[in-house]
Amino acid sequence: TQVPTITLNTGAAMPQLGYGVFQVPADEVVEPVLTALEAGYRSIDTAAVYGNEEGVGRAIAQSDIPREDLFVTTKLWNDSQGYDNTLAAFDQSLQRLGLDHVDLYLIHWPVPAKDRYVDTWKALEKLHADGRAKAIGVSNFHIPHLRRLLADTGVVPAVNQIELHPNLPQADLRAFHAEHGIATEAWSPLGQGKGLLDDPTLGSLAEKYGRTPAQIVLRWHLELGNITIPKSVTPSRIRENLDVFDFELADDDVKAIAALDNGTRVGPDPDTLN
Ligand code: NAD
Repeated sequence: TQVPTITLNTGAAMPQLGYGVFQVPADEVVEPVLTALEAGYRSIDTAAVYGNEEGVGRAIAQSDIPREDLFVTTKLWNDSQGYDNTLAAFDQSLQRLGLDHVDLYLIHWPVPAKDRYVDTWKALEKLHADGRAKAIGVSNFHIPHLRRLLADTGVVPAVNQIELHPNLPQADLRAFHAEHGIATEAWSPLGQGKGLLDDPTLGSLAEKYGRTPAQIVLRWHLELGNITIPKSVTPSRIRENLDVFDFELADDDVKAIAALDNGTRVGPDPDTLN
């Protein structure tokens, strides 16, 4: 499978669809990552707080895919924010991954109550200047947090990775990102599977296109221009989620999916998460 790429504001090409490993236990992560790499995924999304960077690194080492063909993202956890803490936490992430650089390093949450994300960003700018984080970005930032970074620091985030799925299409953030050259990356793209994939609108579209509801939702993300990172540990679903590059949704169907917006989050609210 040839996965299309999105060009980041650094000039780097990031696969539009990657593999996320949230909630995959450390001692179980090697096998599904290897399955994903074999299936054709080249982008892997982990985080310090997932506790599985070491396993992700082991899978990368075991696969025979050249490092330059992979796109590895990890994230700084909230309790490591602040300039010096960030530099130290990044070293530890690299060490656990067994890599000398990551392709994308993200601030996991803004944690506005602690007000340390500007200093934290300045540490990411240094990691970027040193070439150890080829691109730097944020996650779960709302427009006021992004405005603050744009005003107080020198590098525009390459990516904002946010909760985004048909129940939470994030039109305002997507428009802001487009205006500022920030790529939108959707987490929990399938709304964590739960109720979303049973929605009757998705069911009838699945029937119309001869696809699964998950594939319809992933196709919707691609048509919006999102980068996305669905998670599954089931080999057939890992492959199914990548098998979305040989069909397109009609405009009306893209619009019908946007009508599923009901403002429901599956994760925490970035304004209040500490
Ligand atoms: P997701 O929307 O990718 O849903 C995953 C769940 O959906 C699976 O556990 C499974 O139950 C189901 N599923 C997957 N494929 C399916 C298929 N083909 N058919 C039916 N059901 C299927 O949710 P997620 O894991 O929360 O998000 C994906 C990735 O996003 C994570 O692994 C992680 O890398 C990232 N993430 C980031 C943040 C953040 O704060 N930055 C938060 C949550 C997740």
